[in-house]
Amino acid sequence: MTLTPAYAAQTAKAPLAPFSIERRAPRVDDVVIDIEYCGVCHSDIHQARDEWGHGIFPMVPGHEIVGRVAALGSAVSTFAIGDAVGVGCFVDSCRECASCRAGEEQYCEHGMTATYNARDKEGLPTHGGYSTRIVVDQKYVLRIPPSIPLDRAAPLLCAGITTYSPMRHFGVKAGDSIAVVGLGGLGHMAVKIGRAFGANITVLSTSEFKRADALALGAHAFAPTRDADTFKRLAGQFDFIIDTVSAPHDYNAYLALLKTDGCMILLGVPEQPSTVAAFGLIMRRRTLAGSLIGGIAQTQEMLDFCAEHGVASDIELIRMDQINDAYERMLRADVRYRFVIDIASLRK
Ligand code: NAP
Ligand code: ZN
Ligand code: ZN
Repeated sequence: MTLTPAYAAQTAKAPLAPFSIERRAPRVDDVVIDIEYCGVCHSDIHQARDEWGHGIFPMVPGHEIVGRVAALGSAVSTFAIGDAVGVGCFVDSCRECASCRAGEEQYCEHGMTATYNARDKEGLPTHGGYSTRIVVDQKYVLRIPPSIPLDRAAPLLCAGITTYSPMRHFGVKAGDSIAVVGLGGLGHMAVKIGRAFGANITVLSTSEFKRADALALGAHAFAPTRDADTFKRLAGQFDFIIDTVSAPHDYNAYLALLKTDGCMILLGVPEQPSTVAAFGLIMRRRTLAGSLIGGIAQTQEMLDFCAEHGVASDIELIRMDQINDAYERMLRADVRYRFVIDIASLRK
């Protein structure tokens, strides 16, 4: 066991504060990673504030982890000390069910072991990347391609794969028209990755001040959702809608923007459920779908795709002690476009 500096929420009402956790001694299949950067996902806020319920406290969030291999278990031969590696939203799964065998461990029928706010197979709480070190079975460790700067790679481990996976699964192709709803961490990755797929991207946003950024990130168009005219003008226009909004909003208004056979994919997880009217779906045979992160093999595929297409996250690097302020800024939609914690600030 190694005592490891971290930042934790002691309860759902408490701000994050310094804390120490134990990391296990490496088992034969483990990779010990010295964390260099950790992205800040809106799911960290939802969970640290227990908005989804069943939170395990004290909680050390963080599932966009990159760092370097510090030590290896005796059975690990595919990683070497010093390699740039990443860990995403889960660190284990049953490895035997149909989903695990299909490489879709995120849908493990026995429940994947989330990187934090979960219990491992021994019943111990897992702790995430707001810490200096993590120990993970080699099957759940990703390789970061050398051309992507480590700090800008961190958000790919959740925001990147969460937007890439449904585009692959639902067959986004060149020339398709996609509306990306919400220009935050997930949204800005959806713009970049969708653009790399050759799609035509429109950002739908509550923040008019993000217009120039949306276009600079690669969107072809920007439409303000506080303007009712947007919903009239864009009715029936899109093949896909990628909805990344973290707060409750009216899905019906967005469904009306889909073409016949269009598909709206929910990625955001608002605290409250919403009502969907059947007519909005049946009149044009529309689909309302959801998607959860992505499997390990596809996460590696996404990292390699990003390297090939020159895609990385646009980040604002923060110190660990700025995390509570970063949460408040994200809640005000004031993020450009992902906060990434410089974990060196936790080592001092
Ligand atoms: P984020 O960076 O905070 O971005 C969310 C964006 O939603 C905001 O920037 C804002 O964009 C928009 N928004 C916020 N409040 C809104 C409101 N009241 N009405 C309309 N739009 C609003 O969050 P994120 O990290 O991208 O995460 C987004 C959501 O995805 C969260 O719920 C998170 O838990 C979830 N998530 C899901 C998965 C998955 O596997 N499905 C994975 C990761 C995260 P504008 O300013 O452009 O309007
Ligand atoms: Zn996330
Ligand atoms: Zn499984």
